[in-house]
Amino acid sequence: MREIIFATHNKHKVEEIRQVIGNKIQITSLAELGEKKDIPETGDTLKENARQKAEYIYNRYNKDCFADDTGLEVDALGGRPGVYSARYAGAKCSFDDNIDKLLDELDGNTNRKARFRTVICLIENGKEKFFEGECKGVITTERYGKKGFGYDPVFIPDGYGESFAEMSGEDKNKISHRGIATRKLIDYLLQK
Ligand code: IMP
Repeated sequence: MREIIFATHNKHKVEEIRQVIGNKIQITSLAELGEKKDIPETGDTLKENARQKAEYIYNRYNKDCFADDTGLEVDALGGRPGVYSARYAGAKCSFDDNIDKLLDELDGNTNRKARFRTVICLIENGKEKFFEGECKGVITTERYGKKGFGYDPVFIPDGYGESFAEMSGEDKNKISHRGIATRKLIDYLLQK
């Protein structure tokens, strides 16, 4: 089976992507490679960051790999936190700190529209290719659910009555930004 490295330290993302890919392709995580160093992520766009993370791992291991970068873009905040979603509340902040800051900033605001956007960069034999996915929804005023990670407890996708953190991983993957981008990646990898 074809093997490909997923350049992330986020174990939730590895689980999600394995669920989408199933046994069609073998996904090797950084943990399995014993890779512990932080991957640099200093770009101003999701695309630049996805490329930077994938290049870093490709250059270290010389094996086909991909990385994703995801941002939550909130209309009432002019698209913030966007590319800075991970460190929205500060350098060493937790998922909870980020949610607290987001709910504070939106306090009293009736425009709750937002979207998650994912860009995946694949590096295959040294060549880059990009895949994108987005999921539109609204930011709630309080947390709902315990599943998932990041901003999942405060994001309700359009057309649904529950937050990402209340859905099963399988249901989230069907409609999520990363699920959509990942299926494009798999279609590309399997069409050859
Ligand atoms: P990253 O830079 O792609 O790891 O993602 C930036 C931040 O966005 C993460 O630290 C999470 O807080 C958030 N994030 C990414 N993907 C998701 C998701 O699927 N649900 C909720 N939050 C997410």
